[in-house]
Amino acid sequence: MLCIWIPRIKCGASSAFPGMTFQVNEFLIHCISYLPSVISPQNMLMEKRVYIETYGCQMNEYDTERILRLLESSNYLETKDAKEADFILINTCSVREKPEHKVYSALGRYQWLKEERGTIIGVAGCVAQQEGDRLLNRVPYLDMVIGTHAIPMLPQLLQKVECSGQRVCETGFDPEGNYLKTILPQKSPVVGSIRLDKVKSYVTIMQGCDHFCSYCIVPYVRGREKSRSSGEIIEEVKRLTEMGVKEVCLLGQNVNGYGKGLEEELRFAELLPRINEIEGLHRIRFTTSHPADLSEELIQAFSRLSKLCEHIHLPFQSGSDRILKAMHRGYTKESYLEKIDRLKGVCPSIAVTADVIVGFPGEEERDFEETLDLLQKVRFDDLFSFKYSPRKGTRAAQFEDKVEEKVKQERLSILQEIQKEITLQKNQELEGRVKEVLVEGRSKQSDRDVTGRTRSNKVVNFKGDLELVGKLVPVQITKAYPHSLRGEIVPTHCRLQNAPACRTDRDCGIKDSEILI
Ligand code: SF4
Repeated sequence: MLCIWIPRIKCGASSAFPGMTFQVNEFLIHCISYLPSVISPQNMLMEKRVYIETYGCQMNEYDTERILRLLESSNYLETKDAKEADFILINTCSVREKPEHKVYSALGRYQWLKEERGTIIGVAGCVAQQEGDRLLNRVPYLDMVIGTHAIPMLPQLLQKVECSGQRVCETGFDPEGNYLKTILPQKSPVVGSIRLDKVKSYVTIMQGCDHFCSYCIVPYVRGREKSRSSGEIIEEVKRLTEMGVKEVCLLGQNVNGYGKGLEEELRFAELLPRINEIEGLHRIRFTTSHPADLSEELIQAFSRLSKLCEHIHLPFQSGSDRILKAMHRGYTKESYLEKIDRLKGVCPSIAVTADVIVGFPGEEERDFEETLDLLQKVRFDDLFSFKYSPRKGTRAAQFEDKVEEKVKQERLSILQEIQKEITLQKNQELEGRVKEVLVEGRSKQSDRDVTGRTRSNKVVNFKGDLELVGKLVPVQITKAYPHSLRGEIVPTHCRLQNAPACRTDRDCGIKDSEILI
């Protein structure tokens, strides 16, 4: 046991993170001084439980997954019950409203576990990065603050808390990008872990952002754009497909910025074909794309790559050029619409979703009208709409001409009402058609139903057994709702691969690309 533990400190802390600001040597000496108390056979073999509460975006969900893989190597297995946890981690997000408020209220919920069970409590993610020591100062029972670049150090930092009781805060930035290194999922997942029966998975390909939109905190809490090597990404996707994953969603704050700073010269549109070749993988998605960086090569990929799903999430934030300029978005309404036209030209069935902010400082009625006009022109399949709220530390937080809360709310309601109608109409266009659905699990609506998604990312519920989970099946859409579709599985004879009916009988509505795989 001793010879396993020491190299893990050396590799994980010193050589892997040369640019980080923490004192590795000091830390190493400190941990070695505690060796006798830690390296007892009981301690090394003892199975412990970790409970993670995750807030925010897909990047945070993926970070939680990375943390679970890392902690597994320290004998920490996931529990869904905070009461039985030895370690509780709150993985935070500061992009949406009142993030700190959420963290403090979550911490308050677990104080009694600290007092009664001695549970170790930590905060990770964007709020941890932003608040650092302030969090430790304000919450006396908090043990750890783990910044966005310090995730790979978590096992060592946790051990430090366990063996010395010392409180730790690590929020240094790692300019080398080693923080993106990820432990691959285990081929034989531990029973009870979240990796069993997994049909789809996130894979981070880059992190950080160089855009500095005036309202956004991401560049300050995630750092500048850094990419993972294509080799690492492909290895992770291959491992996931070996474990039964059929669909991957490639993640990054700005996936179009992929490749910056890598030794190999490779852009995002060139990475995709390599992933498309991976055997056993059936679907590829990605998020998020910045409209200003959406290249023609990437647009073309939607017609060239068979596994790239017909869906793009392309946040526009506002339809007013004046507001887009104040947001520092780097494109105009016209150039955004041109890109949408190109996408629909190349891939007519593509579903488009986006983010929009209403009530940005200085937004007047005419600006809001421009946003509504853009909605009608694009006819988004779905829209994630938010009222502007200032993020501490961003430029927009200093802007004077704030929009009244009441006006923001009115605009949001108008916009959401219009979009609701458009979404329903777009869903109704699918009634009667047969779509390929990747079955993900039991539907929340009924025990007799399963749920899955089309390639265009629409949720479909239909009658079926759990043995369909992980399979791609043709489903005829029978009814459209604002947020989902109802369907019926197409009779077996139509689903047989190479059956003449599937290839030639257009009455059944299945296209070649929609046949069960
Ligand atoms: S592109 Fe803008 S909104 Fe998106 S992460 Fe970067 S700074 Fe934030």
